[in-house]
Amino acid sequence: MHENLNIVWLKRDLRTFDHDPLFEAEQLGGNYIIVYLFEPLQMKHPDYSLRHQQFIYHSVKALNKTLKIHNREVHIFHTNADTFFEYLTTTYNIKNVLSYQESGTNNSWILDKKVAKILKDKKAKWIEFENQAVIRGSKNRKGWDKYWFTYANSTIIRNVYSFNNFKLLKSPFDFYINEFPFIKKYPLEFQPAGEQFAHKYLNSFVKDRGKDYNRNMSQPEKSRYSCGRLSTYLAWGNISVRQVFQTVKKSSNYKIHKRAFDSFLSRIKWRSHFIQKFEVECSYEHTCINLGYEQMKYTNNNIFLNKWLKGKTGFPMVDASMRCLINNGWLNFRMRAMLVSFLCHHLEQDWKRGVYHLAKLFLDYEPGIHFTQFQMQAGVTGINSIRVYNPVKQSIEKDPDAIFLKKWIPELSCIDNAFIHEPWKLTEIDLIDKIIPEIYKQPIISAKLARTEVIKKLWSLRENELVKEESKRLLSVHVRSK
Ligand SMILES: Cc1cc2nc3c(=O)[nH]c(=O)nc-3n(C[C@H](O)[C@H](O)[C@H](O)COP(=O)(O)OP(=O)(O)OC[C@H]3O[C@@H](n4cnc5c(N)ncnc54)[C@H](O)[C@@H]3O)c2cc1C
Repeated sequence: MHENLNIVWLKRDLRTFDHDPLFEAEQLGGNYIIVYLFEPLQMKHPDYSLRHQQFIYHSVKALNKTLKIHNREVHIFHTNADTFFEYLTTTYNIKNVLSYQESGTNNSWILDKKVAKILKDKKAKWIEFENQAVIRGSKNRKGWDKYWFTYANSTIIRNVYSFNNFKLLKSPFDFYINEFPFIKKYPLEFQPAGEQFAHKYLNSFVKDRGKDYNRNMSQPEKSRYSCGRLSTYLAWGNISVRQVFQTVKKSSNYKIHKRAFDSFLSRIKWRSHFIQKFEVECSYEHTCINLGYEQMKYTNNNIFLNKWLKGKTGFPMVDASMRCLINNGWLNFRMRAMLVSFLCHHLEQDWKRGVYHLAKLFLDYEPGIHFTQFQMQAGVTGINSIRVYNPVKQSIEKDPDAIFLKKWIPELSCIDNAFIHEPWKLTEIDLIDKIIPEIYKQPIISAKLARTEVIKKLWSLRENELVKEESKRLLSVHVRSK
C-alpha cells in the first residue's frame, strides 16, 4: 500500500510567505513535500539561460535555509513534469498537487496539459491558484482594474509550517548540484537571489532609494539605485505583488514621496496587465500581436545583428546598454526600449531575431511582459504609438556626464564628455594622442539615423485592412474597461 502524499509544486513562486499552495498544504493536513523541477524541455527552450537557472537554484537554497527548522526542504528534480508526475503517482498515493497557475510560453502550457491528464488518470486532484490577479480564461478586461485592486489590497498570507516527519525515497530524477557546477556558481555581478534579498531591496526602496524614482528612472546609471530593482524577485516569485504593493502603500514615506511611489505602484499593476495579455494569447512568443504586421519585410542583415548582440555597433549608448546587460542582467526600461527600437527600426531586423537574446540576458525575464513589451517597442501591435528612439539623443539627455558610457565602454574613456556621445565627430586633431576603436569612428550604419524603410512601412501598414481589423479585436480583448 502506497503512502498518501500531497505535493506543492513550485514554479515562479520561490518564497515561503504569502504563498497559497503552501498554506493550503498545511490546511489539508497529512504529509506533503515541496518540489521544484528543472525540466530539460524548458531548459532547452531558446528563452531560458544559465543565469535563470542560477537564480532559481540559489533562491531554492535560500528557501531551504528558512525551512530547515521545520525539517522541510524544497526537493529539486531534473526531469520533465510529465515524467516526474508519472513516476510520483506510481510510487505514492498522491492526493493533491498544489501550485500556482503559470502564464508561461506554449511550451509550458503543453507540459501542463500532459500533467493534468496524468493526474486525472491517477485520480489525484490538481489545485491551481490564481497568480497576481491574472485571470485564466478571461475574454476581455471588463472590471479587471477593480479585480486587480481587490487582490492587491487583500490579506497577505502568514504561512506557518508544521514539523515534517516524512522521508522521501531516492528517485531516478534527483538533482545533484555537483553534476551542475555551472549552476552552483553565482556571479557576484547579479542581484543576490532569494526571499530575504527581495525584502531587503523592497525595504531600502521604501526607506530611501525610491524618493527620486521619477527623476532617475530613465537614466541608465542612476536608475540602478532609484528604481525598485524588484523585477527579478517578482519574476521568480521571491516576493508577491501584493507584498510589494502593501509595503509601499502602508509605509510612513508614502505620503512624503506620493508621486514617486504612485508612479512605481502603477507599474506594479502594469506587470499583471501585460501578463494577462500573454495568458490570453501566448502565441505572442512567435507571431505579431497584431497579425497584420506579419506582412512586414525586413532586410535582416546578419552582420548588423551580430554587432547588436555583442554591443559593438559603434553607437555608444546601444553598446553600453548591451554590455551592461550581458554583465549583470539588468537595464532600465528606457534603455531596453532603445535597444529594441535600434534593432528593429534602425538596423531593420525582424523583432523575432532579437527577442530570445534579451530574454536570456534579462535576469528578470518574464514571458508575459517580455514578448508583449518587445513587440510594443518594435511597433507591431497596431494599437500603440510607434516610438523610435534615437540612441544619440538618449545618450546626451540621460547620461550627460557619460558615467554609464565610460563604465561599459572603457575604450572611450579618453574622450571628452562633449564628444563621447558622437565620437565619429572627432577630427584627426582631436584624436592626437588618443586611440579609439575604428567602430566608434565609423559605426555600422550612418550616424544620421535617417527614417528607414521599416519605419515608413510600419506607419503605412496602419492603413492596412487586416491591421485595422486586428487593432479593433485587440482593443476589445486587452484594453481595460473599469
Ligand atoms: C523590450 C522590453 C522587455 C522587457 N522585459 C521584461 C521582462 O522580461 N521582465 C520584467 O519584469 N520586465 C520587463 N520589461 C519591463 C521593465 O523594463 C522592467 O520591469 C523594469 O525595468 C524592471 O526594473 P525595476 O524592477 O527596477 O522596475 P521599477 O521601475 O521599479 O517598476 C516596478 C515593477 O513594475 C513592473 N514594471 C515596470 N515597468 C514595467 C513595464 N513597462 N511593463 C510591465 N511591468 C513593468 C516590474 O515588475 C517592476 O519590477 C521589459 C521592457 C522592455 C522595453
